[in-house]
Amino acid sequence: MHTPSPGLLPVSEPGQQRFLRVNTRICNSVHSSGHSGTSTDRDRSAAGVACVHAPSDTILELPPQPVSCVRTRRQPDMTKRTPYFMAEDRAPGSAGKPLVFRVDNSTPEVVQSVLLERGWDKFEQGGQDVEGWNLYWRTSSFRMAEHANIKPWQHLNHHPGTTRLTRKDHLAKHLRHMKKTYGAAVDEFIPLTFVMPNDYSKFVAEYFREKHGAGGARSCWICKPAERSRGRGILVFRDIKDLVFDDTYVVQKYICNPLLVGRYKCDLRIYVCVTGFQPLTIYIYQEGFARFATEKFDLGNLRNSHAHLTNSSINKCGASYEKVKEVVGHGCKWTLSRFFSYLRSWDVDDLLLWQKINHVVILTVLAIAPSVPVAANCFELFGFDILVDDNLKPWLLEVNFSPALSIDCSADASVKRKLIHDTIELIYLRGPRNERAEWREGAKGRRSVSLAKLHAGRLNKPGSTRSSEALLQRTGRTLEDESAVKKDLKICPENKHASQPREMVSGRKDLLLSTKEPPRTKPKLTGRHSTYHKTLLPFMSLIQSCVGKTSVSPCVPLDSSKVPGLQAGNFVLIFPFNEATYGASRNGLNVRRIIQELRKLMNKQHPHVVDMEAKRR
Ligand code: ADP
Repeated sequence: MHTPSPGLLPVSEPGQQRFLRVNTRICNSVHSSGHSGTSTDRDRSAAGVACVHAPSDTILELPPQPVSCVRTRRQPDMTKRTPYFMAEDRAPGSAGKPLVFRVDNSTPEVVQSVLLERGWDKFEQGGQDVEGWNLYWRTSSFRMAEHANIKPWQHLNHHPGTTRLTRKDHLAKHLRHMKKTYGAAVDEFIPLTFVMPNDYSKFVAEYFREKHGAGGARSCWICKPAERSRGRGILVFRDIKDLVFDDTYVVQKYICNPLLVGRYKCDLRIYVCVTGFQPLTIYIYQEGFARFATEKFDLGNLRNSHAHLTNSSINKCGASYEKVKEVVGHGCKWTLSRFFSYLRSWDVDDLLLWQKINHVVILTVLAIAPSVPVAANCFELFGFDILVDDNLKPWLLEVNFSPALSIDCSADASVKRKLIHDTIELIYLRGPRNERAEWREGAKGRRSVSLAKLHAGRLNKPGSTRSSEALLQRTGRTLEDESAVKKDLKICPENKHASQPREMVSGRKDLLLSTKEPPRTKPKLTGRHSTYHKTLLPFMSLIQSCVGKTSVSPCVPLDSSKVPGLQAGNFVLIFPFNEATYGASRNGLNVRRIIQELRKLMNKQHPHVVDMEAKRR
């Protein structure tokens, strides 16, 4: 059980060996692989029709254009309208034609401006070519009929069924189910949760068990409406008589020992893009936010939402928002890279934390993946809210559907624009430009062009035996691009640590983070091993082994044989993460096998931490 005193970073039990030096991170391996991220292996179809994306060079990096040069698509002559697959000369995105995006009133401004910047045209509502768009991006979900009628050249920014993850009660139920099915420790990253009103008696039993068993130290609880967001309707309480709810709520163990910066609570907004559930493909964004409460953390006053909730929507309206706060400074947001570099300045193993966050993300998505409906040509950008405690354990608070993309501060501007650019890169790595043409080829009875086939020539080039080279060539970039890619990529967290385990000294508690004292132990740069890189190597050889194998017929709705790209901008593939998980996520999802692999990976990456956490349990 947590000590109900605020944790100050870095803090640990005396003598407790809490941090392991872990060797590298995902992005390192990606770097060393040299993968450029400008092409993808996606090859999708809808309504039983296969579609094949063109190679990466069909998507052009257009120079940014002023937003004022909004182009609207010329309407084609509809008097001779032909079925879509015959109309490649008019296809949006086909050679020489710009891609077209569709929006509604809810589409965030930043999405529109980024797409215009990239040279896309805006779809003209009410025009005659109702199917003449490539990407429909909106805040609310799409109807199943919209998914069913998707055309091979179109993409939707939501996947059906993802509220299983983004409704707090559904999330709790799915994680609980996964734990029941696959064993203990699977959901150890979500605070103990009860769904009201159904679990009310279970909650009452737990409440009194704790009250009578914990030597008087009572836990705090947080009650959150299942379907609301932005901190609305949330109550933090200690005494059960304060609990009120009138709808579906979750009551959750309140994390009383959050990691504090200065004396302020924070949580992390992590962006995750699932580009497909069948086969499951998850990318994590290596930039994001640390979001701060704007008043000092104080367990003596649970009613102060500016001290206990880290939602920007709440804190930007608080009296202390404009104040320059100790360590945190002005406002209530840092970029994730700033947060991680701050941790590093305290000699905290940010890489280990990042790896744990990756595992949380994979397990969470895995909890719902088997139950989401099959759908082609859609993706989901999630916002994971992660609270880190003073043991550097990440806790999943919730997963957001359509995470906020409003630009309220400079951190927002720097992160969110690039996030959208990179999301577009990820989805359109190989670009839909020639889809109609290629689909037509497929429809004539030819086999579809697989990843392997598309890239076989390049992969088979002499000199392409190194896996990183192969990977680069697979993406359609040359090795020369690698340095440019590295320059482009802001890595978060940066791995600048030694590999030896070490102890955090609890005496440092009193240094607080408000003092600008430099860390006592200088980060060491030697002795790193590339664990994650090693993990990915078999995956790279798998990619190479695809060479020469042709793929499925054009009538297979979703092509599970495609190997996903490792990186696009700041997005990095975290699932599948090796050959075994690649195999276990194709042709159905073998969750048990994947969890085994994940456990193996966790043991490999941080055996001491896994041991310690097991003991703590
Ligand atoms: P919302 O959808 O309303 O944003 P969240 O679950 O993200 O709901 O909770 C809002 C804020 O409340 C979080 O950003 C975090 O600061 C705080 N919070 C939520 N759950 C917990 C918890 N179990 N322990 C500690 N703080 C929490």
